[in-house]
Amino acid sequence: MRIQKAVVIGAGTMGGGIAALIAGAGIPVTLLDIPAPEGADRNAIVKTLWDRQVKASPAALVSPDAARLVTLGNTDDNFDAVKDADWIIEVILEQLAPKQALMARIEAFRKPDSIVTSNTSGIPIHRIGEGRSADFQSHFLGTHFFNPPRYLKLLEIIPTPDTAPSVVAFMKDFGGRALGKGVVVCKDTPGFIANRIGMYIGQARMVAAIENDYTVEEVDALTGPLIGLPKTATFRLADLVGLDVHTHVLRNQYEALVDDEERPLFRIPAPLQKLIDAQALGNKSGAGFYKTIKKPTGEKEFWVLDLKTGEYAPPGKPRFDLYGQVRDIDDLGARMRAIFEHGAGDRGGEFIISTTLAICAYAGRRVPEIADSIIEIDNAMRWGFNAEAGPFETWDALGVAKAAAEMRARDIAVPAWVDEMLAAGHTSFFQRDGTRVIGAWDPVGKTYAPIERPALRLALKELAGTPRELKRNASASVLDLGDGVLCLELHSKGNTLDVSTDEMARTALDLLGGNAYRAMVVANQGKDFCLGANIGLFLMAIASGGIGAIDKAAKSLQDLLMAFRFAPKPVVAAPFQRAFGGGAELSMSGARMVAAMETYMGLVEVGVGIIPAGGGCKGADPAQRLAPCRRWERSGPPPGQGL
Ligand code: NAD
Repeated sequence: MRIQKAVVIGAGTMGGGIAALIAGAGIPVTLLDIPAPEGADRNAIVKTLWDRQVKASPAALVSPDAARLVTLGNTDDNFDAVKDADWIIEVILEQLAPKQALMARIEAFRKPDSIVTSNTSGIPIHRIGEGRSADFQSHFLGTHFFNPPRYLKLLEIIPTPDTAPSVVAFMKDFGGRALGKGVVVCKDTPGFIANRIGMYIGQARMVAAIENDYTVEEVDALTGPLIGLPKTATFRLADLVGLDVHTHVLRNQYEALVDDEERPLFRIPAPLQKLIDAQALGNKSGAGFYKTIKKPTGEKEFWVLDLKTGEYAPPGKPRFDLYGQVRDIDDLGARMRAIFEHGAGDRGGEFIISTTLAICAYAGRRVPEIADSIIEIDNAMRWGFNAEAGPFETWDALGVAKAAAEMRARDIAVPAWVDEMLAAGHTSFFQRDGTRVIGAWDPVGKTYAPIERPALRLALKELAGTPRELKRNASASVLDLGDGVLCLELHSKGNTLDVSTDEMARTALDLLGGNAYRAMVVANQGKDFCLGANIGLFLMAIASGGIGAIDKAAKSLQDLLMAFRFAPKPVVAAPFQRAFGGGAELSMSGARMVAAMETYMGLVEVGVGIIPAGGGCKGADPAQRLAPCRRWERSGPPPGQGL
């Protein structure tokens, strides 16, 4: 199976974004929408819609050039494109009958073996494929992208009982490797995984806030980075998604989840309904749980909704005693344990403890209903919500038995399979070999199932402390990746460059000069590739040694980067996300650069008056070199990434 041509049908918010994503992956794609009424240009609708994608901010297209791979058309005159396509994806309005009618039409045109998928978020996949031939059914499944498709990492794949396992395996691999998504395989149940668990989490917190008199700001302070989630936390996230979209999904969930033991929780809470009635739909309408107020000085302030009165009030600073006790604990698992230990009796701690236990138990009770593996649920939370850990990893960190006992004490139903697992003497959901997670408990098979690993993926943190970590200091490591390839891994704060990274880089170059290694990559798996030189250290150096210290540092970085460029064997830089200042210079100094699709690179130090003297001044037009930073400034961080 190969995908060399794709057809996307439905060019709205999602269809256009998916077409842009596919084109960005280098695959030619035909984008179809309904024809315009007689008399007008037949492609007027699709043209207008695509134009929005081309101009979208943040950019939907990874590069403006990719637009060349997109052919526009309408479903009357250009349906023939379906004949040649290897993948046809349906992204039209969310109604069963039109989706079924479209599938019948696709069946009449498609070539055998082409893959047909639907992007529905709420309609059972098997119903959309009803009435189609056996070959169609075996090549039919759900591919649920999230908005915006370029930036949201999660892709849910939903096979039906008739989908061929080889097609599922292929799409799983294709989604990850070609489209750069984090793929999870779901069962065909309402809301699949992310909306089912995500909506439950949002509701559990909103309802707990309303019932126990917590303020919007308190809940957002408690449910953001403190517990491993982005700053958007709970209420800000709803405002960002749009309260109309949020309640639409909630309503669908409530209607569909007739057998869910927690169905009443999916009812729309009164304060949310009030906002909807007042057309306060979140960020897009300037008011939701937060309201943007322009002060007379022109400055913006975010006022906060009082959940009881429905009035907005100026922002405050919620304070919890617990916060000070735990916020400096870096490791999320250790922080959660500390919250559970010190939090009982504290207003903030109590909120986190009670909602976390309810969420973990609910997720547990959904296996195997919504997914066969607990890993799929954790990954959906990680990739769909930027959570640092999913419910099972969190529960594991708290101690499975300890948290289960705490649930029971609070009348929260512990999933039967968890009790069985504990009774069989297994105390953890995950099986580890040192730091490496090698298995996850399989509630159906009642044993640990090995974790599948794509052959091409390496987890650098698993090499730490093994003989393959050749050298290490506080800021960087030199690793042996196998195949005669070395890796210089930065792991300082923000992966910034300092004296210690310099020392490791020189060690790596020495090793590369010997006979044992034939190439080196400069890479890491942190949040950002490298935020540049540590400017704080620069300031300290100037304070103690005068401005000459800067000369020394610049010369040293220059020398190092030249040593990369002229190393006897290739040095390849693999930047991703932010590569600023020294990070950009580092990326540009190897023999080759292999940049991730989402890379934001620029010589930002110019903004604070520092000349990029480590290697950023040479070469072409400086305006061009700064172009990526300008784009970053203009478009802001990608939504949902909390950057
Ligand atoms: P949208 O209204 O923005 O776009 C739908 C497009 O389909 C419109 O341009 C419409 O003209 C076109 N269309 C309707 N009937 C058609 C037909 N018979 N043939 C060809 N084109 C037709 O909707 P959207 O938000 O892009 O959602 C599309 C699908 O994706 C829905 O199933 C929705 O549930 C799902 N989805 C949406 C989101 C989201 O956040 N918007 C996220 C995930 C999944």
